Amino acid sequence: MNSYQADRLVVLYQQMADLTAPECANTCKCPHTCCDEFACQMTREIAKERYGVTLEEYPPNSRGAFYLGDKGCTVAPYLRPHCTMHTCEISSMGFKRGDPKWTKSYFKLREKIERLEAIKDAEIQV
Ligand code: SF4
Ligand code: SF4
Repeated sequence: MNSYQADRLVVLYQQMADLTAPECANTCKCPHTCCDEFACQMTREIAKERYGVTLEEYPPNSRGAFYLGDKGCTVAPYLRPHCTMHTCEISSMGFKRGDPKWTKSYFKLREKIERLEAIKDAEIQV
Protein backbone atom coordinates (compact mmCIF):
# COMPACT_ATOMS: atom_id res chain seq x y z
CA MET A 1 0.00 0.00 0.00
CA ASN A 2 1.54 3.32 -1.02
CA SER A 3 1.28 6.46 1.10
CA TYR A 4 -1.48 7.90 -1.11
CA GLN A 5 -3.60 4.78 -0.52
CA ALA A 6 -2.86 4.82 3.22
CA ASP A 7 -3.89 8.47 3.48
CA ARG A 8 -6.96 7.81 1.36
CA LEU A 9 -8.04 5.00 3.69
CA VAL A 10 -7.91 7.37 6.68
CA VAL A 11 -10.01 9.93 4.79
CA LEU A 12 -12.57 7.31 3.71
CA TYR A 13 -12.99 6.11 7.29
CA GLN A 14 -13.54 9.71 8.39
CA GLN A 15 -16.19 10.07 5.68
CA MET A 16 -17.80 6.86 6.91
CA ALA A 17 -17.80 8.16 10.50
CA ASP A 18 -19.39 11.39 9.26
CA LEU A 19 -22.11 9.28 7.64
CA THR A 20 -22.76 6.86 10.51
CA ALA A 21 -22.27 9.05 13.60
CA PRO A 22 -25.39 11.18 12.99
CA GLU A 23 -27.43 7.96 12.76
CA CYS A 24 -26.58 7.36 16.41
CA ALA A 25 -26.67 11.00 17.49
CA ASN A 26 -30.13 11.53 15.98
CA THR A 27 -31.84 8.24 16.71
CA CYS A 28 -30.27 6.45 19.65
CA LYS A 29 -32.19 6.47 22.91
CA CYS A 30 -29.11 5.31 24.84
CA PRO A 31 -25.98 6.52 23.01
CA HIS A 32 -22.92 4.30 23.27
CA THR A 33 -24.84 1.36 24.70
CA CYS A 34 -23.33 -0.68 21.88
CA CYS A 35 -19.83 0.19 23.12
CA ASP A 36 -18.51 -2.65 25.23
CA GLU A 37 -15.33 -4.31 26.37
CA PHE A 38 -15.20 -6.78 23.48
CA ALA A 39 -15.53 -4.06 20.81
CA CYS A 40 -12.85 -1.95 22.50
CA GLN A 41 -10.56 -4.97 22.72
CA MET A 42 -10.98 -5.49 18.98
CA THR A 43 -10.06 -1.84 18.48
CA ARG A 44 -6.98 -2.22 20.67
CA GLU A 45 -5.80 -5.19 18.60
CA ILE A 46 -6.48 -3.54 15.24
CA ALA A 47 -4.69 -0.35 16.27
CA LYS A 48 -1.67 -2.28 17.56
CA GLU A 49 -1.38 -4.99 14.94
CA ARG A 50 -2.33 -3.09 11.79
CA TYR A 51 -0.97 0.35 12.66
CA GLY A 52 1.47 -0.10 15.58
CA VAL A 53 -0.55 2.38 17.67
CA THR A 54 -1.06 2.06 21.44
CA LEU A 55 -4.24 3.88 22.40
CA GLU A 56 -4.90 5.75 25.64
CA GLU A 57 -7.48 3.99 27.80
CA TYR A 58 -10.20 5.56 29.97
CA PRO A 59 -12.19 4.36 32.99
CA PRO A 60 -14.58 1.71 31.67
CA ASN A 61 -18.31 2.34 31.29
CA SER A 62 -20.90 -0.06 32.71
CA ARG A 63 -20.30 -2.45 29.78
CA GLY A 64 -16.54 -2.31 30.07
CA ALA A 65 -15.84 0.00 27.08
CA PHE A 66 -12.55 1.72 27.79
CA TYR A 67 -12.11 4.20 24.92
CA LEU A 68 -14.98 6.53 25.79
CA GLY A 69 -14.17 10.08 26.86
CA ASP A 70 -16.50 12.94 27.76
CA LYS A 71 -17.49 13.46 24.13
CA GLY A 72 -17.76 9.85 23.05
CA CYS A 73 -15.20 7.59 21.46
CA THR A 74 -11.66 8.92 21.56
CA VAL A 75 -10.30 6.67 18.80
CA ALA A 76 -9.80 7.84 15.21
CA PRO A 77 -12.33 6.22 12.83
CA TYR A 78 -9.71 4.25 10.83
CA LEU A 79 -8.45 2.52 13.98
CA ARG A 80 -11.92 1.19 14.88
CA PRO A 81 -13.36 0.05 11.52
CA HIS A 82 -16.01 -2.26 13.00
CA CYS A 83 -17.38 0.62 15.09
CA THR A 84 -17.08 3.24 12.34
CA MET A 85 -19.10 1.14 9.90
CA HIS A 86 -21.69 0.02 12.43
CA THR A 87 -25.22 1.33 12.67
CA CYS A 88 -28.09 -0.56 14.23
CA GLU A 89 -30.11 -0.60 11.01
CA ILE A 90 -27.21 -1.73 8.81
CA SER A 91 -26.39 -4.50 11.29
CA SER A 92 -29.94 -5.70 11.71
CA MET A 93 -31.52 -5.11 8.30
CA GLY A 94 -28.67 -4.27 5.92
CA PHE A 95 -30.13 -0.87 4.94
CA LYS A 96 -31.43 2.38 6.38
CA ARG A 97 -35.21 2.46 6.54
CA GLY A 98 -36.81 5.05 4.26
CA ASP A 99 -33.52 6.43 2.99
CA PRO A 100 -32.17 4.58 -0.07
CA LYS A 101 -29.87 7.51 -0.85
CA TRP A 102 -28.11 7.16 2.50
CA THR A 103 -27.90 3.37 2.06
CA LYS A 104 -26.37 3.78 -1.41
CA SER A 105 -23.76 6.24 -0.10
CA TYR A 106 -22.95 3.89 2.77
CA PHE A 107 -22.27 0.87 0.56
CA LYS A 108 -20.39 2.89 -2.05
CA LEU A 109 -18.05 4.16 0.66
CA ARG A 110 -17.78 0.73 2.25
CA GLU A 111 -16.77 -0.81 -1.07
CA LYS A 112 -13.96 1.74 -1.49
CA ILE A 113 -12.77 1.05 2.06
CA GLU A 114 -12.85 -2.72 1.58
CA ARG A 115 -10.84 -2.46 -1.64
CA LEU A 116 -8.05 -0.61 0.18
CA GLU A 117 -8.28 -2.86 3.25
CA ALA A 118 -7.72 -5.87 0.94
CA ILE A 119 -4.48 -4.28 -0.28
CA LYS A 120 -3.42 -3.73 3.32
CA ASP A 121 -4.33 -7.32 4.25
CA ALA A 122 -2.21 -8.68 1.41
CA GLU A 123 0.73 -6.60 2.61
CA ILE A 124 0.41 -7.77 6.22
CA GLN A 125 0.26 -11.43 5.16
CA VAL A 126 3.46 -11.21 3.08
S1 SF4 B 1 -25.07 1.83 16.91
FE1 SF4 B 1 -27.15 1.69 17.71
S2 SF4 B 1 -26.94 1.39 19.93
FE2 SF4 B 1 -24.99 2.11 19.15
S3 SF4 B 1 -25.03 4.31 19.48
FE3 SF4 B 1 -25.73 3.90 17.37
S4 SF4 B 1 -27.94 3.76 17.46
FE4 SF4 B 1 -27.15 3.58 19.56
S1 SF4 C 1 -16.76 3.23 19.35
FE1 SF4 C 1 -14.91 3.50 20.61
S2 SF4 C 1 -15.59 3.21 22.74
FE2 SF4 C 1 -17.18 2.36 21.39
S3 SF4 C 1 -16.66 0.18 21.19
FE3 SF4 C 1 -15.72 1.25 19.47
S4 SF4 C 1 -13.64 1.71 20.20
FE4 SF4 C 1 -14.86 1.21 22.01
